[in-house]
Amino acid sequence: MPATVETVTGPLSIDLLGATLIHEHVVTGMPGWDTDPNAPRWKRHDMMQIAKDKIAEMQDAGIRSMVDPCPSDLARDIEFSAEVSQATGFPIVAAAGLYNEYFGLNAYWKMRGMTGGDVVQEMAEAFITELTAGVGASGVRPGIIKVATGSGAVTDYERQVFAAATLAALETDVPIITHTDDGVLGEDQQAMFAEGNLPANRAMVGHSCGTNDHDYHWRLVEGGTYVGFDRFGLEAVNSDQNRVESMLKLIERGASTRLLVAHDTVWCWLGRPFPPNATWRPSRFCQDIVPMLKAGGATDEHIDHVLVQNPRRYFAGEPLPALG
Ligand SMILES: [Zn+2]
Repeated sequence: MPATVETVTGPLSIDLLGATLIHEHVVTGMPGWDTDPNAPRWKRHDMMQIAKDKIAEMQDAGIRSMVDPCPSDLARDIEFSAEVSQATGFPIVAAAGLYNEYFGLNAYWKMRGMTGGDVVQEMAEAFITELTAGVGASGVRPGIIKVATGSGAVTDYERQVFAAATLAALETDVPIITHTDDGVLGEDQQAMFAEGNLPANRAMVGHSCGTNDHDYHWRLVEGGTYVGFDRFGLEAVNSDQNRVESMLKLIERGASTRLLVAHDTVWCWLGRPFPPNATWRPSRFCQDIVPMLKAGGATDEHIDHVLVQNPRRYFAGEPLPALG
């Protein structure tokens, strides 16, 4: 079991992660954002100031580290994350991996398949190279692998990405973090990991709070992965009231050791900005959601599980405690 996690400034003892938000973004842009000449362009200085402000906000709320699971095809900027981390002393874990077929950049890999390449093997090698040698010439290493599905069925391309990620995770002993759309296909994701013999506790099914279907949540818990309630504050896709109610049902059934939390905030969004959203901020969970959970019966121990113990166990690959 690994004792350290690779952050953008180097290895960190997993025991030092402390309260961790499992899914926030320093910089993200959808592929093609730079084809819009009328979209504003960021100045590096302004980006740094925003990142420092967001980190100060998280630190004030008690957060001690974060994962930025931006895949390589969504304008991941790992060198900037390293600059931010160096400037603030705040640990950030970046990702290798690729996004889903609908929104990601997959033309290269499709062409590799058409011209006789072993796509799964080549993709796995790509992930492993980044995880072990760093991204490009930067030497900055990701510490997690990101994969994603869409809202319909899992596509052939996504199956290739999941198979490659599974190979890379087994080779490098880093965990996998996923994206789901609309709170569906989490069980399909678990099945793909199982096909590749990845222990379920090495993966987290992300954005599971995109649905309020408790039976679905419970099947994910029983499937043995971590379950991400990682879009708090993003009221456009679900309400926090719903997320809290769903989380409380899982906690009541003894699944507090399976949950990881975050907001999926994007601090520097490339392209035209989103409409403002006052609840979508990285202190939302600690400041507003914890009191809601406690009012519904959650204890300090449950909160410690989701913020501190579960992220530590997820990166360390420790076996899951029994439910309840
Ligand atoms: Zn995200």
